[in-house]
Amino acid sequence: MKTILFLLILLTSGLTQDNSSVNVYRIETETGIEIYANNSNLYPVTLEYMVEYENLKPSKGLPLVQVLQPNTEQKLMDFEYSNLSAGWDYSSRYRYYMGDINVRHNDSFAYRLPFPIGEEYLLTQGFNGAFSHQGELPHALDFAMPEGTPIYAARHGKVVMMEGGNTKGGPTAEFMEYANFITIMHDDGTFADYSHLKHRGVNVQPGQRVRMGQLIGYSGATGFATGPHLHFVVKKAKHGGGFISIPVQFATRKGIGELQAGESYIGY
Ligand SMILES: [Zn+2]
Repeated sequence: MKTILFLLILLTSGLTQDNSSVNVYRIETETGIEIYANNSNLYPVTLEYMVEYENLKPSKGLPLVQVLQPNTEQKLMDFEYSNLSAGWDYSSRYRYYMGDINVRHNDSFAYRLPFPIGEEYLLTQGFNGAFSHQGELPHALDFAMPEGTPIYAARHGKVVMMEGGNTKGGPTAEFMEYANFITIMHDDGTFADYSHLKHRGVNVQPGQRVRMGQLIGYSGATGFATGPHLHFVVKKAKHGGGFISIPVQFATRKGIGELQAGESYIGY
């Protein structure tokens, strides 16, 4: 009996991803088909797996939505032959996206201002900033600061993505892809992006563990930026791909709370 194996990878993340970083494959046994998946990324991914089949009995409900932990391989499910003499048919496709859709942000965490202690910088865009933070990630923050300002981790975590090789920046959206950035995954599974870093302004490596207050890079104006600033956002994976931004609190000299656009903050 002819069987069809049809794999379609849809990448919904706008960030660069290696096409082979997540794979779904099957092993045929005497009693059925076993489906396995591996994730070779440094971060979890959420996999959506869809199948059309005949004369097979699935062990789980479909479509299957499954979180794959970083650098793991796991069995997803089985299909048992329900009428082997009649043959069987199987056709699957899947897509995946960065992050675990089940994570919950620790809202009581007080983030550290991501610049040097004692230095003062203006928050030019706060939550729901009207210039460039509408749409996907409204809870991003922009701190105006000169190029080369040291950037410190606002919270401990693991570096899961970074880019430091870009040289271009400009005031329109077509420059977006040229941003240098660091993405750190926190222990609760949320991510923080530190963006617009200067060329070669990334001081960390993928997979590196960083602690809150550790120097991770230097600010700049790469990517979609009208001038030198740090763009900071905490986000988590969204059902179906992409991210949800999270309003977070910072520890400041005036106490713990959300930051306000138009206010200056002193590194603390
Ligand atoms: Zn921004």
